[in-house]
Amino acid sequence: MSKRRRLLAGLLALMLLLPLPVHADEGDELDNSAAQDRLAELNNSYKELESQKEKVDSQINSARTERKRQEIISAEIDGQINTTTKQIELLTERIGLLTQQIGQLNGSIAQKQLEMEAKQEEIEGTMELFKKRMRAIYMSGGGNNTAIGMMLGAESYSQMVIRAEVVGRVAKHDRELLSKLDQDLKELNELKNGIEQDKQEIEQNKSAVEDDKTEMAVKKEELDSQYQMARDKVEDIAAQEQEYLANKAEIQKKLNLLEAEMRAIYDEINKESVNVPYTGGTMRWPSPSLSQITTQFGEGGHTGIDITGSGAYGTPVLAAGDGVVKVASVQNPDSGYGKYIIIDHGGGVQTLYAHCSLLGVSVGQSVSAGQQIAQVGSTGWSTGPHIHFEVRKNSQAVNPLAYVGG
Ligand SMILES: [Zn+2]
Repeated sequence: MSKRRRLLAGLLALMLLLPLPVHADEGDELDNSAAQDRLAELNNSYKELESQKEKVDSQINSARTERKRQEIISAEIDGQINTTTKQIELLTERIGLLTQQIGQLNGSIAQKQLEMEAKQEEIEGTMELFKKRMRAIYMSGGGNNTAIGMMLGAESYSQMVIRAEVVGRVAKHDRELLSKLDQDLKELNELKNGIEQDKQEIEQNKSAVEDDKTEMAVKKEELDSQYQMARDKVEDIAAQEQEYLANKAEIQKKLNLLEAEMRAIYDEINKESVNVPYTGGTMRWPSPSLSQITTQFGEGGHTGIDITGSGAYGTPVLAAGDGVVKVASVQNPDSGYGKYIIIDHGGGVQTLYAHCSLLGVSVGQSVSAGQQIAQVGSTGWSTGPHIHFEVRKNSQAVNPLAYVGG
């Protein structure tokens, strides 16, 4: 490989990395450039949609994270609600037991009350008997008012002594009986008081347990409302998530459409002679009389070489190789190429000849290397008569010097 070829190959590789160069003087790429413009447009839309998709993805991710967080919170609250419900059940059970105990104590108290009432009746009965006996002694004493009088009313000392003895005995017996009954009554009362004290303690206990239960019920209500809030949040976020997913699907749909269109354009571009091998070998120089190159390939983004020489106008433009005429464009005011021809050589290789004054072939016509196809002119964006000569490989402009061999 010569130094020059190495240089050309390097330049070629560099050019392939850059966007399709368009020479300011030459203007549109015509059949290909419309497709390239559309591709560029589609690419921009694609990038825009991709960045939208990324945003939506991050929204989906943060919504998902937040939803999971709220789900954990609501599960924790649910656990606390279960614990609280169990505590309330236990407290209710305890209150039931204490109520039962209080009922039993009330029974005991009522029992003691009855016993005390019976004892009271016994005391009263005993007192009544005692009074009757005293009255009888008194009456037998002749109506005197006092026990002394009763004794003094005795007709004899012995009678008085006997009476005093009887009075004393009776009195002593009754005193002892009454005292015992009174003692019994006091004991019963003490027992009853003891039971009432127990009952009071249990009632206090019950009241405290009831307070605990009330507190728990309040706590459970709070937890219920917290749980509801967490569940509402989960639902809200899930709805938001669905919205984001719908957005993403919408974006993906647009991306798919763009991709389909881009693929169709690429297919169309690649279809060009892709199945026909390039058999042209080294190309011919496209002019029999001109050899001066005024603008090289790549100079200021130039997509071809400009060839001229003295008396250029009207001289023949030759096909650089065998092929089929793909484009034979009459003057197009929107095109910098002016009148131009594209020949397809197969294998994805095409040549272009621009700024012609006269076209000598038509689309679909087979031409052979060296055949005249046009005359040199200055149509389109041109400052003087010259051939703008391009070689394209798979729709990319490449350095023609690598094909025509100088
Ligand atoms: Zn040019």
